[in-house]
Amino acid sequence: ELTLAQRVGRIKPSPTLAVTAKAAELKAQGKDVLSLGAGEPDFDTPAHIKAAAQKAMDSGFTKYTPVGGTPSLKKAIIDKMKRDNGLDYKPNQVLVSCGGKQSCYNLCMAYLNATDEVIIPAPYWVSYPDMVLLADATPVILETTAATRFKITPEQLERAITPRTRMIFLNSPSNPSGMAYTKAELVALGEVLRRHPQVLIASDDMYEKILWTDEPYSNIVNACPDLYDRTVVIHAVSKTYSMTGWRIGWACGPAKLITAMTDIQSQSTSNPNSIAQVAAEAALAGDQSCVEEMRLVFKARHDKLVADLNSIPGVRCLPGDGTFYVFPNVEGLMAKLGCKTDLELSDKLLNEALVALVPGSAFGTPGHVRLSFATSEKVLSGSVERIKALAG
Ligand code: PLP
Repeated sequence: ELTLAQRVGRIKPSPTLAVTAKAAELKAQGKDVLSLGAGEPDFDTPAHIKAAAQKAMDSGFTKYTPVGGTPSLKKAIIDKMKRDNGLDYKPNQVLVSCGGKQSCYNLCMAYLNATDEVIIPAPYWVSYPDMVLLADATPVILETTAATRFKITPEQLERAITPRTRMIFLNSPSNPSGMAYTKAELVALGEVLRRHPQVLIASDDMYEKILWTDEPYSNIVNACPDLYDRTVVIHAVSKTYSMTGWRIGWACGPAKLITAMTDIQSQSTSNPNSIAQVAAEAALAGDQSCVEEMRLVFKARHDKLVADLNSIPGVRCLPGDGTFYVFPNVEGLMAKLGCKTDLELSDKLLNEALVALVPGSAFGTPGHVRLSFATSEKVLSGSVERIKALAG
């Protein structure tokens, strides 16, 4: 019998992609499924970005590029990090990857050892724990509740850090909770991290531009500039410019670490797609009005969806700070429908109401579900009606 590598036994396929697949299967059977599972904007990639890619292809820019990205895309990234985030990087501090996901993966592979612990606040992006496990290290999950708006506290962080802690993932605004840390909260977390110099910070800023808080966006380095040397910022064009399929993301951080991550990439995938790199450059350096247009649509959908969800008995939904997800508590609904777990509830909603969403357990926070509002108003209000009808 075929025996697989032990590391395969440690991980599971992405649960969010699994829900999408199950919904697609029902759709293929002719069922009218409303899907709130997707983790991608529903907009087309803006025309000027596609035009740049077209031009790149036509002019023969179709060959290998430097492994870590073209010099001109790196420049566009460096300019963006300076312009939007006030952070200075040199080209050897930037790695362009096949999506933010590959940057995260390269980071785990280049930095972690078998005895290392990595702190992951829950609810978390589904891939963090499994990437840590693939790198032979141990995820340490910090649970949160609605009482802290699904954010960790400095006390909680202090308690979780051990001599073996080597890294922490911070994702603000968060997939799946939609919550963003305020600058003051990041300052307080930074005070703890400052006391533990062995801990590297992975700041996943993927949803930076999909935000509607009163204060401007801050990541941990904006809040604590002295943590610059210990922080890797991970970002992508995927969510900001509706470019999930193009697969361009990046990491900025200490040159030694970025070089190691680039070496890992050089022995796995080599450079990201040459044409997509030109498109990403056009996105970052071009007109930014498309970003604001999409943000406003997401915000309007968010406001309506939160109000609608809170009108369903057994559902309690906090308004989020950004992203295109909400993460309501559904324990009341579970009790009402006789479901013991959020997994059971999600199955019931899919099979009986034909509404696809992702159970909170997939993100380490049971009793909740994640709904994506990267879909039309019609699908959103239809979904709420169906859940209401099932809830009785
Ligand atoms: N980080 C977070 C928090 C995400 O939600 C995602 C995408 O779902 C990624 C990283 C990866 O994005 P990309 O498509 O650029 O690989």
